[in-house]
Amino acid sequence: MRVLVIGAGPAGTRCAERLAERGAEVTLAGAEPALPYDRVALGRVLSGEAEVRALITHDAARLRALDIRFRAATRIAAMERAAGSATTARGETIVWDRVVLATGSDAVRLPLPGAELPGVFVYRSIADVQAMRRAVSGGATAVVIGGGLLGLEAAAALSMAGARVIVVHALGWPMERQLDPVAGALLARQLGATRRLRFVMPATTEGIEGDHHVRALRLADGSRIACDLVVMAVGIRPAVALAREAGLQVSRGIVVDDAMRSSDARILAIGECAEHRGVVCGLVAPALAMAEVAAATLLGEQRAYAARPDTAALKVSGIAVWSAGEIAPPDAEAVTLSDEEAGFYRRLWLRGGRLVGAVLYGDTADAPFYLDLLSSGRPVEPFRARLAFGAAFAEAA
Ligand SMILES: Cc1cc2nc3c(=O)[nH]c(=O)nc-3n(C[C@H](O)[C@H](O)[C@H](O)COP(=O)(O)OP(=O)(O)OC[C@H]3O[C@@H](n4cnc5c(N)ncnc54)[C@H](O)[C@@H]3O)c2cc1C
Repeated sequence: MRVLVIGAGPAGTRCAERLAERGAEVTLAGAEPALPYDRVALGRVLSGEAEVRALITHDAARLRALDIRFRAATRIAAMERAAGSATTARGETIVWDRVVLATGSDAVRLPLPGAELPGVFVYRSIADVQAMRRAVSGGATAVVIGGGLLGLEAAAALSMAGARVIVVHALGWPMERQLDPVAGALLARQLGATRRLRFVMPATTEGIEGDHHVRALRLADGSRIACDLVVMAVGIRPAVALAREAGLQVSRGIVVDDAMRSSDARILAIGECAEHRGVVCGLVAPALAMAEVAAATLLGEQRAYAARPDTAALKVSGIAVWSAGEIAPPDAEAVTLSDEEAGFYRRLWLRGGRLVGAVLYGDTADAPFYLDLLSSGRPVEPFRARLAFGAAFAEAA
């Protein structure tokens, strides 16, 4: 069986590996010039803590040992379903019996005036990080648009690399999708104190000024922030163009069933480009779980993908913040344990006697306990009075 895996991110690489281990003839085509690498760890290169080569997960020797035909810098431009072939951007033809689409996401670029100026970046790939590192050398002022998980990670890394960093965020507190306002305020305070990040929020960006290079960010209230570089960390969009042009069913992502099959059973989709039961994932754990299921499907095994609740943890050392499930749903009861002065805060949301969401700040050791309650839907009534104190107290009850 000749399998063409399109996209050499974590999902595509994992699937290729599983298939090759079991004897499939696998071609892994990746648009990026690099060997497969750990995208999650890009912040360590941006901050200067690690070299690019430390991120490589599959070097040439390992790919050879697995007998995977790896094609770097190979963008697949079209899929010819009737012919069972694909065409690369350079015009070569690759023949397949099965395809795994693992094209991931593209970082969103805000369509602001000035967005195309040199000095405006997104944060997604090795190439992005290398370009940002060149721009911050010598001490620069960086504006990060977007105070979500990725924006804060970029901001902390740029600060570590020597830049003065200002985070411009549309909402009143950072990570608003994962945190309630209290935890968000604690986070902004701690990032200001320990990473020297300055927050401008809520604020709407209106344009980027400069002639041949970025000079300032202009806000909707008319104010300007002078800067040398702008990083847009405002979200991702599933990369579905190839699938759409091939006539596959695409909604927000490429629509797949529990076995990861697209609307054409010979073509599977996994990772951030796939949409399973109406949900598109944005984290590496579900992307890898989908890769395992897709490999099993192609090997003729029965395996169904089951989504788990998303969890969010910020990778900035010294900052302990974690959340999962529904955050501040209006129809839920809330339980709070808080010592804001000490930087400790915990808020849990319950509905029908079950945990539906949790935010932990300052101490995240109990995250596995709350995640288990969320995933299993186990009733919490028997130990509700002790629930906020964590596993040791609740389970003792
Ligand atoms: C800086 C950063 C930090 C992150 N931190 C975390 C974290 O802490 N925890 C977490 O869970 N997740 C994190 N993520 C998200 C995580 O990286 C993604 O969920 C994961 O990479 C998704 O894997 P994927 O294989 O589906 O897609 P991707 O990693 O996007 O890989 C897709 C690959 O396909 C290639 N491609 C696209 N189109 C084509 C084509 N037509 N032909 C050939 N190749 C193509 C792309 O170039 C890309 O290399 C982070 C992401 C970034 C950018």
